[in-house]
Amino acid sequence: MKGKLKFGGRYVPETLYTPLVELEEAWESLSRDPSFQGELSELLRTYAGRPTPLYPAQRLSQEVGCEVYLKREDLCHTGSHKINNTLGQCLLAKRMGKTRVIAETGAGQHGVATATAAALLGLECVVYMGAEDVKRQALNVFRMELLGARVVPVVAGSQTLKDAINEALRDWAANLDTTHYVIGSVVGPHPFPSMVRDFQAVIGREAREQILKAQGRLPTHCVACVGGGSNALGLFYPMEEDPVEFIGVEAAGAETLSLRGEPGVLHGFLAHFIQDPWGQIVPTDAIAAGLDYPGVGPQHSYYRETGRARYFHLSPQEALEGFAALARLEGIIPALESAHAIGWLLFHREELDPSSLVMVCLSGRGDKDVSLVKGFLEKSNGQG
Ligand SMILES: *Cc1c(COP(=O)(O)O)cnc(C)c1O
Repeated sequence: MKGKLKFGGRYVPETLYTPLVELEEAWESLSRDPSFQGELSELLRTYAGRPTPLYPAQRLSQEVGCEVYLKREDLCHTGSHKINNTLGQCLLAKRMGKTRVIAETGAGQHGVATATAAALLGLECVVYMGAEDVKRQALNVFRMELLGARVVPVVAGSQTLKDAINEALRDWAANLDTTHYVIGSVVGPHPFPSMVRDFQAVIGREAREQILKAQGRLPTHCVACVGGGSNALGLFYPMEEDPVEFIGVEAAGAETLSLRGEPGVLHGFLAHFIQDPWGQIVPTDAIAAGLDYPGVGPQHSYYRETGRARYFHLSPQEALEGFAALARLEGIIPALESAHAIGWLLFHREELDPSSLVMVCLSGRGDKDVSLVKGFLEKSNGQG
């Protein structure tokens, strides 16, 4: 594909076109509706635990050689930023008169966050999950069931996240009257990427205000890990017009923007995807489940093409060092996803100088990852 590309779009079968237009209209009016926004802010405050702190990480700062602040999304209910989006979308579904929500999930984190919001708001919830992932993530499947959701294993394709999204889109097309599809990142056909960005932008709005209060100046750098890109965009977007450098950190094995991706279409939108020369999606193998998606949201493709943000990727070893460093230096065990953002500070110090002021999105907590990390460390100790 050559020339100017318009990332995003609505590459869907006709049956989904009208519902997407209806969703866009509903979102446009609700995003300006004070009663909707008021109800959402109240839930974010009393239920999800917002505003999350902006924490000055002093020992990490010393290690890195400049001031580093962590935006503590790991302290949100259910342990990550995902609840910001699922509360927003489930509330929107209710306002649209829907009684049922569906979601896709890879490792189960977005499924758990959706099941949580659905339970809170009294919505029926069905979660599509690749059959491989159902086997690997038995505990999260049980969590979703405890929360009242039904988990449907998807046996098509590679039996992972990409196939779960396809199945969720099929369910949505068949049950439009009753059902809203709660997509888990800034991906999918328009208006999903903009809507999810707007729900996650609470991260950057709070952080911008908090850093101004703490330091009297804007950060020089914002750093976040990128799977689909929702925690990164949530932090970046409210500072888009500010002179702040944006750094997106991908995982080796799913280095869509930093290395291997080419523009293409999947799941209803145009963006960079990891694909073979025939446009078929190539399976990814990121160490962190939340970063294990073969594409990115269209706004990140746009940021990449225009140079507004820069993208890097970290090896599993580098991410694990980020994980261990934050635990040892700050007493915070990060999600493996977020450990990529921390690892970037350690392995790209040449990008920073003593006057740099860095805000890192700590997208989630690491309880879910400790047994995986234990396995990795034991393996590498055994070999080395
Ligand atoms: C899902 C997840 C991610 C990746 O998703 P984005 O849409 O890129 O933010 C990152 N961190 C954590 C903790 C997650 O659960």
